[in-house]
Amino acid sequence: MELFIGIFIFVFGIIIGSFLNVCIYRIPMDKSVVTHPSCCTVCGARLTALDMIPVFSYLFLRGKCRHCGAKISAIYPVVEALTGVLYVLLYIKFGMSWLLPVNLALVSLLIVISFIDYKHMIIPDGLIIALLITGVIQLAATFLADGFDSWSVYIIGFFAGGVPLLLIALLCMYVLKKEAFGGGDIKLMASAGLIIGWKLMITAYLIGIITGALFSVLLIVAGRKTRKDEIPFGPSLCFGILCSVFFGNWLIDWYLGLL
Ligand SMILES: [Zn+2]
Repeated sequence: MELFIGIFIFVFGIIIGSFLNVCIYRIPMDKSVVTHPSCCTVCGARLTALDMIPVFSYLFLRGKCRHCGAKISAIYPVVEALTGVLYVLLYIKFGMSWLLPVNLALVSLLIVISFIDYKHMIIPDGLIIALLITGVIQLAATFLADGFDSWSVYIIGFFAGGVPLLLIALLCMYVLKKEAFGGGDIKLMASAGLIIGWKLMITAYLIGIITGALFSVLLIVAGRKTRKDEIPFGPSLCFGILCSVFFGNWLIDWYLGLL
């Protein structure tokens, strides 16, 4: 039974993953994610159901369009497989509780935000609003579960997420006359804080900042960016939030155990 549910959630995850691909591709172009049919981006041939089976179509077509032979980006199957695997891990972590749908939504949005921010250096407001809606649903579920008792964790989380980056951004703007973060990063951390609460926000920040530094060095060493380029911080912050969802509580307990 457990295995059956696991497989079901994986398949559900890769199907959602293929929708996330559509979001990653279309949201920055301000195109609808539901109305247009999917087409090959090179020859414009309409994709049939057989071309759109998550992960498997890519493998079966060996990464090429069936009509014009244009290479299909490996990002598509990677996003699909990643979504499927993360969905299964979230199911293992949360089981069938209300935390499952909340975290499935959170992780899906983090995937879309990471890829869009990496490619376009923007975090669209629509995605921030979707995070905020997830946060409000989470508050409602918390309220139904144990009243106002644990609300403060999430309300403080909103400020714990947004305020540190906001202060650093203001400091850099007025003192160094440089723009340190995009407003998108600040909004991302505030709305994620509303969902995961202030405790997990601490580990999200730590992991996000360390990852951001390593990621920048890696991009520069690999020659993808130079020292003068702006390097998107969003993907690293999303990675920090994601790690916190899985390991944050464990990390905090481990750290407190050291004291
Ligand atoms: Zn084509």
